[in-house]
Amino acid sequence: MLPSAPAMERVRHLIVGAGISGLATAAFLKDRDVLVLEADREIGGYCKTVKQDGFTWDYSGHFFHFKHPDVEAWLRERMPGQEIRTVEKKSFIAYGGGMVDFPFQKNIHQLPQAEFIECLYDLYFARSSDVAGRKAEGQTEANFKEMLYARFGRGIAEKFLIPYNEKLYACDLSTLDRDAMGRFFPHADLPDIIRNMRVADNATYNATFTYPEGGAIEYVKALASAVPPGAIALEERLVSIDLRRRVATTTKREIAFERLVSSAPFPALARMSGLAHDAGAFTWNKVLVFNLGFDRKAASGRHWVYFPDKGTSFYRIGYYDNIFDGDRLSLYVELGYPRDAVLGEQEIEALRRRVLADLAKEGVTSGHELVSHHTVVMDPAYVHITRASMAEFTRLSRVLRANGVYSIGRYGGWTYCSIEDNIVEARALASDFDAA
Ligand SMILES: Cc1cc2nc3c(=O)[nH]c(=O)nc-3n(C[C@H](O)[C@H](O)[C@H](O)COP(=O)(O)OP(=O)(O)OC[C@H]3O[C@@H](n4cnc5c(N)ncnc54)[C@H](O)[C@@H]3O)c2cc1C
Repeated sequence: MLPSAPAMERVRHLIVGAGISGLATAAFLKDRDVLVLEADREIGGYCKTVKQDGFTWDYSGHFFHFKHPDVEAWLRERMPGQEIRTVEKKSFIAYGGGMVDFPFQKNIHQLPQAEFIECLYDLYFARSSDVAGRKAEGQTEANFKEMLYARFGRGIAEKFLIPYNEKLYACDLSTLDRDAMGRFFPHADLPDIIRNMRVADNATYNATFTYPEGGAIEYVKALASAVPPGAIALEERLVSIDLRRRVATTTKREIAFERLVSSAPFPALARMSGLAHDAGAFTWNKVLVFNLGFDRKAASGRHWVYFPDKGTSFYRIGYYDNIFDGDRLSLYVELGYPRDAVLGEQEIEALRRRVLADLAKEGVTSGHELVSHHTVVMDPAYVHITRASMAEFTRLSRVLRANGVYSIGRYGGWTYCSIEDNIVEARALASDFDAA
């Protein structure tokens, strides 16, 4: 008699990705029949933390702004002994050889007088003519770049908003949707801007932030502690999904599921599901992050600084040492690239030299010695939210859901969001499943 084939493994909830979204789904599901597949050898996704030579670095600057006290309390309960600081954010823009408070549009009065007048004049007439006219006609701006000009005028747009966002997104901003940054874009009205000239109120979407002493991974560990023991399979990648049979093929086995929740990047999920789709609708940037540790302290009283000048390689830097009062400068430095840019070892080495030179040029370092460094390429980092991406996402995710496949998270949802948003979304989905 021929040996019979082993029975296919089955699980009610198969989750793809042990980053914040996947772990939060598994943690909040009351149904414990769950398996989390993670391609990497560690949990955490983009919320991993690196500890090296006495420095603590995340994959990129990860500072946390909780708007749901219950979410923060749930996490903190699972982080015993972990010091978590709440810090009043101090962020600046490097401009014209000095520093302007962030956000730029609310602090134009800090510019040299001629530039201040230029920005204010353009802002006033953009606001009073264009926006008012459009509102009256019920129109909205056609794209992100047009929104910047229409709401802030040429001066503010061309001195900061456009060059900065072009460095970050590494694309033509007129290809992005008007709301590509959602609530993460610090909007300001004309009265807000004028009022700020007398009494500074730069509280944007994140006036304070919290940060755990052990780095971003501490939030990940808190979520993982609520996942059933043994339910995370590391170094196991989802390869394809048979939607009709509800069977997933991984690098190790076949698994039948009732529901599959994926936090993998959406274009990859669409491909793995074999759905006909317009792959060209999905574009993104990648971000090269240098984590740099130096021999001694530099400036204090700064958490992060934006660099709109295209002559400087990075668009943003952040100071880890100013959160927990470290005595050595500890920076993350972010550079934006198109998704097809080649970032091999040689390119990264050359860019690190360029970054060190730019840090000295910008006055961030002065004779500091680099004593430790670490590099990450986040790919994708910022997805390009366009009309085409939104339409294709909506169409495909409807088909996937009808077949028991749910795509969530920053990359599964092909969106711009925070870890708190990821947790809130995962919790709601888990609760829907438990209620079904
Ligand atoms: C530059 C930058 C700065 C940021 N700063 C902040 C911040 O300050 N505060 C904040 O709240 N948020 C910040 N974020 C956002 C935050 O990083 C994300 O919202 C969050 O990490 C996304 O978690 P996720 O689980 O949805 O995705 P991911 O972290 O991408 O996790 C997905 C997981 O799925 C795994 N995976 C992918 N494909 C497969 C497959 N086929 N099979 C198995 N596993 C697979 C991956 O290995 C990964 O572990 C930042 C993001 C970037 C890019």
